[in-house]
Amino acid sequence: MSDTQDNIIQEKPLALNPSPAADQVDLIGLSRQELEAAVIRFGLPKFRAKQIWHWLYHRGVKSIDEMTTLSLRVRDKLAGYCFIGRPSVVNQQLSEDNTRKWLLAIPGGGEVETVFIPERERGALCISSQVGCALSCKFCHTGTQPLLRNLTAADIVGQLMIARDTYGEWPSSRGGRLLSNIVMMGMGEPLLNFDNVAKALKIVMDQEGISISKRRITLSTAGYVPNMKRCGEELNVNLAVSLHAVRNEIRDEIVPLNKKFPIEELLEACRSYPGSHNARRITFEYVMLKGINDSESDARELVRLMRGIPAKINLIPFNAWPGAPFECSSGATINRFSEIINNAGYSAPVRMPRGRDIMAACGQLKSASERAKQKSQEATASSSCGRSSNPYTARAFPINS
Ligand code: SF4
Repeated sequence: MSDTQDNIIQEKPLALNPSPAADQVDLIGLSRQELEAAVIRFGLPKFRAKQIWHWLYHRGVKSIDEMTTLSLRVRDKLAGYCFIGRPSVVNQQLSEDNTRKWLLAIPGGGEVETVFIPERERGALCISSQVGCALSCKFCHTGTQPLLRNLTAADIVGQLMIARDTYGEWPSSRGGRLLSNIVMMGMGEPLLNFDNVAKALKIVMDQEGISISKRRITLSTAGYVPNMKRCGEELNVNLAVSLHAVRNEIRDEIVPLNKKFPIEELLEACRSYPGSHNARRITFEYVMLKGINDSESDARELVRLMRGIPAKINLIPFNAWPGAPFECSSGATINRFSEIINNAGYSAPVRMPRGRDIMAACGQLKSASERAKQKSQEATASSSCGRSSNPYTARAFPINS
């Protein structure tokens, strides 16, 4: 399966702010304090920052011209000093199950994918934190792409702005928003880019702007222990931990970060995660890999490890990608695994794969340029061994459709 087929419409980058001058400031991604300091630097009174914040994050404007409560003179002045940045939409795809994936070009270089997973009358936006990833989890497609760089706060908030633009969800106060939740589970390890992620999430949570509650935000980590406490203390968002194995010798292989922060150390950090309690449990993600981590004794060991942690366990059927070295466990194995955990008193739902047909499911994200590179390598290899390409069912369409 691939999304590099001819039916993907490549978009011209959105020219919302064509060629800002090098010394112009992007207003998106500034903290409130930074915005106030910038406004004073531009020779405007501090209260203008509050108005600008409202236009940026409550109304979602894309140009300074649209800030109509500011006089023309003030808008002109602002336009000389700053601009409103957005990532450029390279293409987007809609899955058969209505999962939507954007491929975004980031102003500082590189591409990331952002995914929206709709439910009935709500939905979660899966946001990336890095271009590529240094952690090389073996079941994860992103992990095959080297880390290019950390995303800035503007790049991270920009993913949400693009999604809101697409669904017409401005102003922020509108009731019944489809984009109700955020999961930091896209490309990259958010705790290895914590300063930018924290800055972005504080902007997203600000009640005079985008205003998504910390209860509706989940940050997922592969287990970078040094920043877990900080995450709980500074952001107090929900925590998800990519556990995926219950024995260090297996986890060392499939989540190599485990060699630095082994299971015992990781779980200790979970036990002391600020703000976790029975009403706000930590989610443990567990990808089901045939013959690797899916035995009944693995399930029983998982139950033992969870003791003393307010936990729920998400079982994720492995989502394949080209060249993946694993197979998904059988349905019967997954159900038995879930049953053992449930019988011990823990919730262990089997997560329904979403957006598989457009390679948007958990663990399948990868920048298109990287995927194209890999595909051409595979094509060279397959031409000599007679493989044919897979059928492809995704729909692709222009932006704003
Ligand atoms: S699972 Fe997350 S941390 Fe691991 S390689 Fe993939 S993106 Fe990186």
